Amino acid sequence: MPTLRSLADLEREGLVRDPGARPGLAAAARVMAIAITPEMAALIDRRDPHDPIARQFMPDAAETAIAPAELADPIGDEARSPIKGIVHRYPDRVLLKPLHVCPVYCRFCFRREKVGPGGDALSEAELAAALDYIRSHREIWEVILTGGDPLMMAPRRLARLIAALDEIDHVAVVRIHSRVPVVDPGRIGDAMIAALRPGRAALWLGIHCNHPRELTAAARAALARIADAGIPLMGQTVLLAGVNDQVEILEALMRDLVSARVKPYYLHHPDLVRGTGHFRVSIERGQALMKALRGRLSGLAQPTYVLDIPGGHGKVPIGPAYLGDDPGALQIEDASGRRHPYPG
Ligand code: SF4
Repeated sequence: MPTLRSLADLEREGLVRDPGARPGLAAAARVMAIAITPEMAALIDRRDPHDPIARQFMPDAAETAIAPAELADPIGDEARSPIKGIVHRYPDRVLLKPLHVCPVYCRFCFRREKVGPGGDALSEAELAAALDYIRSHREIWEVILTGGDPLMMAPRRLARLIAALDEIDHVAVVRIHSRVPVVDPGRIGDAMIAALRPGRAALWLGIHCNHPRELTAAARAALARIADAGIPLMGQTVLLAGVNDQVEILEALMRDLVSARVKPYYLHHPDLVRGTGHFRVSIERGQALMKALRGRLSGLAQPTYVLDIPGGHGKVPIGPAYLGDDPGALQIEDASGRRHPYPG
């Protein structure tokens, strides 16, 4: 089965439960392309109207409802882009976005107005200019390849890009963010592993995974191939209503990631993306979930709960806090909520 890319594909695969919903789904599909890989389509329980895998990838009429606070560019990429394909938000690191194509289109995506088939990929000249920008800014220590999904590049082109970055002596770390090993694990073949061969600069791979069911046997095998090639892995998860906003689900996901040799890195508070209000969780709920995880999981399996400040002001941890706020009598809260005095 190829990747599902149209409403007709979804209907043929029995993923549209209510024929009356078609106009709403079509309206959502006009805003953001559809792509559901066979691996993800196979995971969807057709009998469950609240299936957490379907919820991430199936268009939803709710996407046409735009709240006043929602933004086209919620984390301010454009405001921090000195040249096409580069976002320079922090002094020591840049994002480099070579393409906007993804293996799946996640309906909550923070770049949902940019990503898509035929999206605005960098031409060879634009990529050369982006590399020149990195070369000429010696303060850049880390380059984060993102997009879109960089592992959608042909392995040879990706290898050339990694090699070009490797030749820039002040770049110490190349980090790649990808959903491919989880949603399209077949792409992690010998050619891709060869493209990912670490060079002088350290190569890290951040994978995006939101639900334990996504970690299929094939996904685990792909992650194992990457880890066996000497590439450290870390996990990024978006906190999403109706997908993973339950402590049992997050706990299982974090355990499964660690057992697949993926260090949980960030739990992202959902961004203020236009048409994604149905995915949003309150910060209080997110903090309560993090507190519950603290009591259940080892430090190795704890992600940091972060929020990207709208407008391009960067990412910050948003708790929960374990210090009481009375400066005269410092109190530390333990994982079960009991407070203890501390001589501060
Ligand atoms: S794979 Fe990443 S960039 Fe692509 S649609 Fe999903 S969240 Fe967005």
